[in-house]
Amino acid sequence: MRFVDEYRNEADARKFLTAIERLAVREWTIMEICGGQTHTLIKSGIDRLLPQQLTLVHGPGCPVCVTPLELIDRALAIARRPEVIFTSFGDMLRVPGSARQTFEVSKTSKVSHGARDLLGVKAQGDDVRMVYSPLDAVKLAQKHPDRQVVFFAVGFETTAPGNAMAVWQAKQLGLANFSILCSHVLVPPAMEAILGSADNQVQGFLAAGHVCTVMGYWEYEPIAERHRVPIVVTGFEPLDLLHGIYLALAALEEGRWGVENQYSRSVTREGNRAAQKLIGEVFEVCDRQWRGIGLIPASGYRLRPAYAGFDAELRFGVTDMTAQESSLCIAGQILQGLKKPHQCSAFGVLCRPEQPLGAPMVSSEGACAAYYSYGRMGNVKRGA
Ligand code: SF4
Repeated sequence: MRFVDEYRNEADARKFLTAIERLAVREWTIMEICGGQTHTLIKSGIDRLLPQQLTLVHGPGCPVCVTPLELIDRALAIARRPEVIFTSFGDMLRVPGSARQTFEVSKTSKVSHGARDLLGVKAQGDDVRMVYSPLDAVKLAQKHPDRQVVFFAVGFETTAPGNAMAVWQAKQLGLANFSILCSHVLVPPAMEAILGSADNQVQGFLAAGHVCTVMGYWEYEPIAERHRVPIVVTGFEPLDLLHGIYLALAALEEGRWGVENQYSRSVTREGNRAAQKLIGEVFEVCDRQWRGIGLIPASGYRLRPAYAGFDAELRFGVTDMTAQESSLCIAGQILQGLKKPHQCSAFGVLCRPEQPLGAPMVSSEGACAAYYSYGRMGNVKRGA
């Protein structure tokens, strides 16, 4: 397939690996931000072919993994309402909530159910639908004026333009029966939080190419300067990743820092200005809770006051709901590059893709699912 196959060429991959091997002298730790990059690295075996001086750790760029557990519970509570058509991308449908039998929807009302995830709610007869675009949810709202249509709007800067467009369009159409359950998060504050942590081990980053396609990479320049780290905007195919690793390693060995753009076929320094303008019209920056990590200041988007009427949490009164994480899950440490999945005591034993304890095992972009699927088991016996 053109524009894909040339980035999977084995002979070129071997050349990159040889160049990386020649370059690596000291020990370095590099984090790839995006879960899609993690999967390519593990699936293609790049992690096993790199010189041992180089450690790759896996970042927080998996939307499903960092969406707070209480937000999943709020989605389940809203989806259970008879007047609601709850819509979502497929990846959120299998994410388990805290599995409580009764949700406190507000101080005065409760909703009971036994479903563990949105697919379970659907199986019990409630109206949960998978859509391919938030604009499909807007169309549903037009088609069903007697129902409340809610879209589960999670993700990074990549999904923000589509979600902003859906809300903007719903406002233009005067739709009173459309809203979004919003949990948008932003990459640069998460990188700052990782680098500013006393435990930080990350010395260089592969930034997520698709995020930078929207936002550009100018936001990363002050981070690279402040923390004196190389940040390489990197794509998602094996040769993209090898090239990104090569550039980051060269900078580290030469004592350089700054931002480089490996993914120049998609990314410019300024990014997509039209998309940024639309995001800025509908959303404003806010503090956000990251699952497993905690509160990161100014790390998310929420609807601006002019669009607050489209906020599903306010419309359905679920803002008070809280949830308790499994005490076994160390997802937060994995998402900050402090631990690998097989260092979790539940990995492959109590936590497997068919029975996940934490989001990184559910999501197709989660590091734990990647390690399990491609046999990076450490000392753990599969299904023991
Ligand atoms: S293996 Fe499961 S329990 Fe452990 S960190 Fe990953 S998702 Fe959490």
